[in-house]
Amino acid sequence: MEVLQERRFWLRLAFFTLFVVAPPLDIFRLDINLGHFILLGQNWTLGLEAFQRGEISPAEAGANIFLRGFVPIALIIGLVIGVSYKYGRLYCGWLCPHFSVVEMINSLMRRSSGKLTIWDRHRIPEQDPDGLVVKPNPLYWIVVLTAVFGFAFLWTISLLTYMLPPKEIYGNLLSGELSLFQQSFLIAGTIAFMVEFMFARHLFCRFACAVGLFQSLAWMANKRALVVGFQRERVPECVSCNAACDNACPMRLKPRSIKRHMFTCTQCGQCLQACDQVQQDNREGALIKWVQHDAALDVSDREFGHGPHESLKRDLESR
Ligand code: SF4
Ligand code: SF4
Repeated sequence: MEVLQERRFWLRLAFFTLFVVAPPLDIFRLDINLGHFILLGQNWTLGLEAFQRGEISPAEAGANIFLRGFVPIALIIGLVIGVSYKYGRLYCGWLCPHFSVVEMINSLMRRSSGKLTIWDRHRIPEQDPDGLVVKPNPLYWIVVLTAVFGFAFLWTISLLTYMLPPKEIYGNLLSGELSLFQQSFLIAGTIAFMVEFMFARHLFCRFACAVGLFQSLAWMANKRALVVGFQRERVPECVSCNAACDNACPMRLKPRSIKRHMFTCTQCGQCLQACDQVQQDNREGALIKWVQHDAALDVSDREFGHGPHESLKRDLESR
C-alpha cells in the first residue's frame, strides 16, 4: 500500500503541474480573444470560418461540428464514465488538482489543530498507524493560511490563463499592469477559493462537483465495481483499533459502511493503507480491502436488504 500511495502522490503532483503549465505551454487552453481552443500548439476550431466565407457547404460545416466538436467531447465523457463505471472516482483520487489541495490542506490543518477539517467534532489520534506522531501546534495555522492563500491564488491565475493569453496574464502580473477585469477576477477568485479551501474543500468534492457527481452515479450503477470491502465477520478485531480507517479518510467517510454511504469515495486507498498498518502483525491481514465483481455485492447490495455475500469472504481470503 505504501508503494501505491507513493505512486498516487507522484501522479497527482504530475497532473497538478500539468494543470498549471498547460496554458503557458499551449498544451490546452481556450483563448477567448481568438474564440477557440488551443490544443498541443494547434488551433482547435469547429472549422466554421470556411463556411462563413462561403467556401464549404452547410453539410460540410455540419460534419466539421460533428467531428471536431461532438466526437472529442463524447470520447472524453465516454472514457470518464467507462472508467468510473468499473473503478469509481479514480480521476478524483488519483489525478484531480482540487483533491490534491484537499489532501494537502487536510494534513496541514491536522498539524495545527489535530483535525483534518474544521467541521470534525473530535481530534484524530496523535499517533498514526505507522507510528508517526503528529502533535498539533497552533503555530501551524500560519502555514495553513499561507498554503490556502497560495493555492487559491495559483488556482485563480491558472484559470485566468485557461481563458486569456498566458503570456499577457503573467507579463501583466510581473509588471504590475493587470487590467481592471484581470485584477477583479484575480481578487474575487482568490477570495472565493480561499473560503472554499479553508472551510468547504471536501464538501465541494462531496456535494458540488459535477465531474465527481457523474463519476459517482456511473459507479453506483455498477454493483460489481471496485469498492472498499469490509470483512464484517472479523469486526471484533476492530475493537483494539482507534478507527484508523475513518481517521485516514480525506473525504471524511466511514470506509466500513455500505456503498451508498460511500457515494463520494475517491478510491484514494488511504483507509486501506491505515488498516494494513494497524493489522501488520495479523496473519489474516487487513480487514478492509478493495473488492470487485461478485465480492463487491456485499457492500453494494447490502443497502437493498441483501445479507453478506459469501463470495466477498472467498475473494478476500484468496488475496
Ligand atoms: S473511503 Fe477510503 S478509498 Fe474512499 S475516499 Fe475514504 S479513504 Fe479514500
Ligand atoms: S477496519 Fe482496520 S483500520 Fe478500520 S477500525 Fe477496523 S482494524 Fe481499524
